Amino acid sequence: MTEDVYMSLSVSIRRTAAATAVLGLAALGLVGGLAPALAGSDAPRSLVGGSGPDPAFKRVGEVTRTARTASTTTSAARSGTTAGSTSYSFSTVLDGSPVRWDPCTPIRWTSNTSRGPAGGLDVLKSAVARVASLTGTTWEYVGSTTTVPRAGYLPTRAQQSYPPVLIGWTDAASSDLLAGQTASVLGMTRTAWFGVQMPDGGKIAATRAAVIALDRTDALPLTGATSWKTVALHEIAHAVGLGHVSDKTQLMATVLPAVTDLQAGDQAGLQLLGRSSGCVTVPGA
Ligand SMILES: [Zn+2]
Repeated sequence: MTEDVYMSLSVSIRRTAAATAVLGLAALGLVGGLAPALAGSDAPRSLVGGSGPDPAFKRVGEVTRTARTASTTTSAARSGTTAGSTSYSFSTVLDGSPVRWDPCTPIRWTSNTSRGPAGGLDVLKSAVARVASLTGTTWEYVGSTTTVPRAGYLPTRAQQSYPPVLIGWTDAASSDLLAGQTASVLGMTRTAWFGVQMPDGGKIAATRAAVIALDRTDALPLTGATSWKTVALHEIAHAVGLGHVSDKTQLMATVLPAVTDLQAGDQAGLQLLGRSSGCVTVPGA
């Protein structure tokens, strides 16, 4: 079956016709070029989507604006037992479940720190390790790259394999992810996911790629509160599927709080996106 990647501010699910339950599971065995010729009204549909960028992420003390609404993403805010302290949300929800990476497959990542602060790579590695630990996933660093973090880094069509998650410092002149944003924006993340809609209407998708642009023109300490470490944690958490929360104490707030690590709600959300929720297998992918 065909797979596409849709890169946009909004999440979109393309549904061409009313699906029926006539087609059996055997159709799931169709792969690659076979699917288009056989695609009929009851064939599995290609599901495409993405999330990001991150226009609402600002420094402490600056005006907050809510850039993400229910109309632009299918986000689901959930609260735990302690109101206000364990909030998290998912960037995209399909059939009641968050769209996430397959936590049973190593996630490859690369960095471009050539224009970042001295010590930047260590910060990124530390942040990646933190998210990997909280999600129970394995991240494999494949080395540095000279590729600029731009929207075009994400694949535009189905591929046998996908590029590693790219995290790097750049600026508005070099990256469309940062161009046109207010000066208070520290970083932007964009993800791409794809999947299928089964004849019975069920949807299965997995995040396959992500790119994170950190604004090199911001002068931040490497670690501590309001640092590149916490910015990286925030953006990587986006890359694995967390959205923003209104709880200003969480690191996934739209304004960077003065905390040094992911908070209780952030961690609860990350756990649900990870290995503890099982593997993600997209039929035919
Ligand atoms: Zn954000």
